[in-house]
Formats: sequence, C-alpha cells, structure tokens
Amino acid sequence: MSDREFEALEAAFREVLVARGIVTDAEIAERVEVLYGRTPELGARVVARAWFDPAYKARLLADGSAAVRELLEIDIGTLKLVVVENVPGVHNVIVCTLCSCYPRMLLGVPPDWYKSVTYRARVVRDPRGVLKEFGVALPPGVAVRVHDSTADMRYIVLPARPPDSEHLDEAACAALVTRDAMIGLAVPSLGS
Ligand code: FE
Repeated sequence: MSDREFEALEAAFREVLVARGIVTDAEIAERVEVLYGRTPELGARVVARAWFDPAYKARLLADGSAAVRELLEIDIGTLKLVVVENVPGVHNVIVCTLCSCYPRMLLGVPPDWYKSVTYRARVVRDPRGVLKEFGVALPPGVAVRVHDSTADMRYIVLPARPPDSEHLDEAACAALVTRDAMIGLAVPSLGS
C-alpha cells in the first residue's frame, strides 16, 4: 500500500470511528499531540537505565512494554514492545517493511527516511550497505539482525554502552543515546 492509499484508508477509518461515537475528534487530536510531544529522549532514558541497572535491563528484555510503563509511567496501550540488545557479535536494526510502524511511544515521530520505500526495501537486502551509509562500519564477525515491526509489535534497539563512559552518570549517558542508535543505525560514542 502506498503512503497515499494508507492515508486515505486511515482518514476513512477515523471518520467511521468518530461517526459511530467510538472516539471523538478531540480524543484523536489529543492523542496526536501526545505523540508529537514524544521525543527520543524517552527512549534514551530507558536505555541508560538498562545500562546502569542490570535488574531493570533483565525486565526490559523480558517484557519491554511493562518495563517502559514502570520507568516512564506512559501508557503504551496493547502494543508489544520488544527490546533487542546489541551484544558483541550481534547488531540489531529495526524497520517496518510493510509501512512505517515505529516505536513512537519512545522515539516520537519517525524520520522521513524510515518511512521511505528505499530504506524499507534496502535494509532487508543489504543492511551492511545501509549501515555504512549511516557511518556505521561493523567488524566482519558481527552478524546483523533486521527486525520487521508490525501494527501490534514494535522493536527498539538497546545499544551497547560506550566502553569509555565509565566516568559518566546515568543522565550523561542518556545524552549519548541518539534516535538512530535506537533504530540500530548509529552506535553511541562519547564523540557523538
Ligand atoms: Fe508499519
């Protein structure tokens, strides 16, 4: 489905919901406002907490939705959030090959390139090529796993803590975690 078709379908669906009194225009407007108010800073807080608190990290990897609710007290509805951890030998990247599903509850509105047909097709076929374009050169022994999001399941990457960040506190570490790092297309570093 093209973006335009999707938008038309979304508008039609929204009209039905409003017409039947299931939701109001005001509720939709409020929801949109909440989403636009979300920024990758939320995701960065989750990542930094996982770096500093091994018990929290274990809960986050076991049940992302519950762990996010616990830390940020935000309602993510019935969405299943799956946190994929970058470890030595495995690097994770997220995509939605079908449309543009994205962990908006933690990262806000997706960048245009994430929604582009080019990214969605290429990252599956040639993840290393895409990573290279984003400036990430992975050592040869590292496997790349691409995770395809769906309407009811979202992924977010838990990047590795930079090894030279030991002197930094949790808030300073959170500041190193960029949106692209949580998509899997950047690696947090002290220079970033
Ligand atoms: Fe999607």
